[in-house]
Amino acid sequence: MSTVVVVGSGVAGLTAALEADARGHRVTLLTKASLADGSTARAQGGVAVALDGPDVRRHVDDTVAAGAGLVDPTAAHAVCGGGPDALAALVCLGAGFDRTSDGSLARGLEAAHSVERIVHAGGDATGAEIARALVAAVRASTVMVREDAFALDVVVEHGRATGVRLLDGEVVPADAVVLATGGSGQLLGRTTNPSVATGDGVAMALRAGAHVADLELVQLHPTVLPDGFLVSEAVRGAGAVLRDASGHRFLLDVDPRGELAPRDVVARAVARRAHEQGRPVVLDATALGAEQLAARFPTIDAHLRELGLDWSRQPVPVTPAAHYAMGGVVAGVDGRTSLPGLLAIGECACTGLHGANRLASNSLLEGAVQGRAAVRAIEDGPRALAPRPGWGAPEPVTVDGGTDAFTRAELQSLMWDVLGVERTEPALTRAAARLAAWAPPAPTDPKSAEDANLLVLARATVEAARRRTESRGAHQRADHPRTDPSQALHRVLHREGA
Ligand SMILES: Cc1cc2nc3c(=O)[nH]c(=O)nc-3n(C[C@H](O)[C@H](O)[C@H](O)COP(=O)(O)OP(=O)(O)OC[C@H]3O[C@@H](n4cnc5c(N)ncnc54)[C@H](O)[C@@H]3O)c2cc1C
Repeated sequence: MSTVVVVGSGVAGLTAALEADARGHRVTLLTKASLADGSTARAQGGVAVALDGPDVRRHVDDTVAAGAGLVDPTAAHAVCGGGPDALAALVCLGAGFDRTSDGSLARGLEAAHSVERIVHAGGDATGAEIARALVAAVRASTVMVREDAFALDVVVEHGRATGVRLLDGEVVPADAVVLATGGSGQLLGRTTNPSVATGDGVAMALRAGAHVADLELVQLHPTVLPDGFLVSEAVRGAGAVLRDASGHRFLLDVDPRGELAPRDVVARAVARRAHEQGRPVVLDATALGAEQLAARFPTIDAHLRELGLDWSRQPVPVTPAAHYAMGGVVAGVDGRTSLPGLLAIGECACTGLHGANRLASNSLLEGAVQGRAAVRAIEDGPRALAPRPGWGAPEPVTVDGGTDAFTRAELQSLMWDVLGVERTEPALTRAAARLAAWAPPAPTDPKSAEDANLLVLARATVEAARRRTESRGAHQRADHPRTDPSQALHRVLHREGA
């Protein structure tokens, strides 16, 4: 029996905690807010699962194609192949997915999927239903749940992780530490991510000396309302189209797949057209009709109505916003990282599944698969992840220095400006100088601890974006518009001096 500390209570952390508990380990689950806070409960579209055997191969192919040359096919096989079991485990816990009249699981379509394989719940409330089922199961288990417990750092002794230090200084010892802290959308001024998504786990891993990679690969979602509320891709999958200020369906001029082209293509096209015309692009779902919109997308429908908008009659303005971090702590699908005893799962991990552009609805799937696989890795002993062939050597990241007073709002606005839609060397260089000038905030309360993490992450992300002198997937360099095949290697970053 091992003592396991899981940090984070989204789909990945809750799944890992439940699995470890079921297999007889002593589990503590730390989460910095309440159990259901995080991206998981906000997920709308669904979970991509290849329910028919032969579809696993096509799901892998779609994942690889969307990832623009950076997907690790081994990770894609493991995650796509693990989908049916992970889904069955959620159904067993009581997650109620939508079904057709014959009782089989209803499946929707999202961008860059070649077939309908998106399983959903409550129409567009998939994440809320998954979170509900997992939280209820954890509450009914013997997992020790600690809410409002902010994990500050990984404790490292003799080259391995041995626990977690909380903000108040308490050390929670562990044989295995599982980081499941989610994404880092709060790094950018426009995001769909909840307030807890401040990249804490990635910053903790960097400080602990673990490898992180691909931080420059930040996925934008193309259809976000001006208030940051997401309008799921499943809406376009159901037939909604994007129009410019003249009413023209412009995406077909950009890509033959139109609105269902990969996210990076659609997000860039939306941003460019809005910039050219000086007016927002609109999502036109009027052809779907009021009844279908309310039945299939009740959460979005209710939100729009609260804003006084009737999308069955009138197109609604949308804009791109930061949505998903493809990069993170370098990890295997089993969560193993470069630091023995430390595992990373879910959005904070970089398994290579998403490459340079995540395929829609693959992230809930990844968290559910990894949450279960990590427990097997823990039982296998605290071994480090084997280095991946061809990966670059770790680069240093400066975690201290600077004297200027830090403000989160300024950081977020700077990061959106230089990392948002397109990047250039002069803008990134200026941003790097500004970031170096800020003094890292002393972590005295949750807000300042998050600020310190955001600053570390911003420095590493800008450096990673400077080093990738090509355009690939979510990473678009206006000064390097072509993809350079020689850069199809992940960049690994490491803490300074480690
Ligand atoms: C609006 C929206 C819609 C989405 N729709 C979909 C979709 O339809 N399909 C899909 O596959 N994906 C979707 N995604 C992405 C997906 O929801 C996330 O990638 C996934 O839920 C991440 O799960 P996770 O368990 O890694 O992290 P999260 O669910 O984000 O949970 C992270 C947890 O870590 C905790 N935490 C963070 N830092 C600390 C700390 N220092 N100490 C203690 N606890 C900490 C947080 O409080 C939280 O409990 C969507 C995301 C958003 C924002």
